[in-house]
Amino acid sequence: MATTNPFRQLPSVDRILSDQRVRALANGGESGIATIIARQAIESARQAIAGGSEAPTEDQLVESVLGLAAAAFEPSLRPVINATGVIIHTNLGRAPSSDEAIEAMAAVSRGYSNLEFDLEAGERGSRYTHLESALTRLTGAEAAIAVNNNASALLLVLSALALDQEVIISRGQAVEIGGGFRIPDVMAQSGARLVEVGTTNRTYLRDYESAITEQTAAIIRVHASNFRIVGFTVSPSIHELGSLAKMRGVLLIDDIGSGCLVDTRQFGLAPEPTVGESLAAGADLVLFSGDKLLGGPQAGVIVGKAELIAQLRRHALARAVRMDKASIAGLTATLHHYLRGEALSKVPVWRMIAKPFAEIEKRARRWARAIGQGARIVDGRSMIGGGSLPEESLPTKLLALDGEGGYVAEIARRLRTGDPPVVARIERDVLLLDPRTVRPDEDRALIAAVKEALSA
Ligand SMILES: *Cc1c(COP(=O)(O)O)cnc(C)c1O
Repeated sequence: MATTNPFRQLPSVDRILSDQRVRALANGGESGIATIIARQAIESARQAIAGGSEAPTEDQLVESVLGLAAAAFEPSLRPVINATGVIIHTNLGRAPSSDEAIEAMAAVSRGYSNLEFDLEAGERGSRYTHLESALTRLTGAEAAIAVNNNASALLLVLSALALDQEVIISRGQAVEIGGGFRIPDVMAQSGARLVEVGTTNRTYLRDYESAITEQTAAIIRVHASNFRIVGFTVSPSIHELGSLAKMRGVLLIDDIGSGCLVDTRQFGLAPEPTVGESLAAGADLVLFSGDKLLGGPQAGVIVGKAELIAQLRRHALARAVRMDKASIAGLTATLHHYLRGEALSKVPVWRMIAKPFAEIEKRARRWARAIGQGARIVDGRSMIGGGSLPEESLPTKLLALDGEGGYVAEIARRLRTGDPPVVARIERDVLLLDPRTVRPDEDRALIAAVKEALSA
């Protein structure tokens, strides 16, 4: 008898699809994910056979289809526990939202809303009206608009107000913000011509002054949000730039980055530029992110002169970079925390910044007791992070786990790949977990994850 051809032993796609367990998966449908995955599983089996393996049994093939299907429905984007101590962690989604902001986002997402409908008049309205009163009340600006993020805010402002004209920027501010996002590239994209003045460390008011020509539309200041130049440095204050812009009849645009509405000095942190200060200094437009120190959803806020904001609204790009309804709802709810004077207790980034040291220490001790196995408590620093308050940090207590060579990296990997994933940091072969950025309701999951990683 001739040896049987192993390819012939493979079941057909239909046969796999007729399996009870596979049918449950695909709701009995003919096409769709089950068929695609069954073909994929058979194809891999063919390749394995071609490589010299034996044919899998039908049961093995069904098992692999079920496994592939489970993986296909595992969302790629999912919550993680941030134990890094970096409060505004760009790679981990920046600012978490308050409960009220989440409720507001869910409420407008679930059903219809008056996004662009004037309920009073019964006719078409504008999506921009919803945010404007909170933004102008909080900042004292005449008018406001919010778009997708601060990068698009910058693009919109320059496209609408400086197309084919010159915009003056200090060489010390023509910077890369992160993830390859370069201020000069965005500015060039807008069709504005960049005129760089001064040097990396020193730019004087007279440098700006002598660069102003008939072609100049604006002076722009960009906050150095992720680095600091120290030592032999000069840059004019926003007040000096404001006076110069006014005297010479050009616009002053101030990209302050974070949109901080709280005095950071009360936490021993360096002062952040505030919207109010920029407007008072004569900035025509002030730009900032919604999801840095403001602590809301992703957004780019522009506040300032009413006639300029009106021009921005009319510009074609405004449509391309408009905010969606959920973000508008979430940002509004976040702004209301500030209006009510409850930002420090409600907005997660401020709650984390304001968290009492004793409370952090207590939680770190509780973690250490629950975990045992050599876990100890050490002093450390939590970083503000993510394009705000460069190099600024707060004192904290960390849970530390030691180990030789690759052991600590292996524990960190197990934590990252667990469910839920836990992201920690490693310094000098010590694994560190910071309670400041972990929500108290995540403590139980974090402790379980660490115990499992250590025992695996
Ligand atoms: C972060 C940042 C940006 C980009 O803001 P996104 O909201 O991330 O688009 C622009 N300018 C400055 C100064 C920043 O710090």
